[in-house]
Amino acid sequence: CGIVGYVGKSQAYPVLIEGLKKLEYRGYDSAGIALHKGNQLMVYKKEGKVSALEDFVQGKDNNSTVGIGHTRWATHGEPSDRNAHPHISNSGNIAMIHNGIIENYAQLKQELLQKGYHFNSDTDSEVLLNFIEDIQKNNACSLEEAVRIALKRVVGAYVILLLDKDSPDTIIAARKGSPLVIGIGKDAHYLGSDASPMLAYTKEVVYINDYELAIVKADELVLKNLGNEQVTPFVQKLDLELAAIE
Ligand code: GLU
Repeated sequence: CGIVGYVGKSQAYPVLIEGLKKLEYRGYDSAGIALHKGNQLMVYKKEGKVSALEDFVQGKDNNSTVGIGHTRWATHGEPSDRNAHPHISNSGNIAMIHNGIIENYAQLKQELLQKGYHFNSDTDSEVLLNFIEDIQKNNACSLEEAVRIALKRVVGAYVILLLDKDSPDTIIAARKGSPLVIGIGKDAHYLGSDASPMLAYTKEVVYINDYELAIVKADELVLKNLGNEQVTPFVQKLDLELAAIE
């Protein structure tokens, strides 16, 4: 399973699809992407290979410079189109992908069902997504703030990438226990489960630590811990030998 992301000035779709192919070796049963389109979110997802996703998107609108992509290894809910990621929150405002497991999802889901939330998949991930949305609604706060509050209550392992309909130039990312690398390009940032999706574009990367949250724009990378303190990104240069593996 794996995650990729792109925010920059070029087309996101080819970067995401090629990135997902580079992550295929990790194993998966479905694939999907979400793209920003002005103040709309476009989501395409399919059970099966990345090539099946590509066939599905063929001829459909994928014109966008900001997007996220996912390969799923099902843990909660069978492999299927509807359980594939990205998931969209109840309001339609947030798209999210997740690798990992949310251990206390059953309890959170119960709370959300009582509040009238509905679910379009059987995944633990969609529960986390709507939990985040509910926090944002109750606190009238930014998505970034809501993610931070949510992650303090979540038990499990995760790397998540989110798109907010109202912030078309930004990807929000966070991790605990699942890997996340951010590549620094020219007027662009690349996100991946490892560096392989970004090797063609940059050799400068930041390995994100557990309990860190990234607010990523084309020309800006802000890292914070869950206490809302800013963390200085530690930029590493990938050596040429490693880059040659690509
Ligand atoms: N637990 C999530 C699911 O079953 C994510 C699985 C993954 O890591 O790909 O959908």
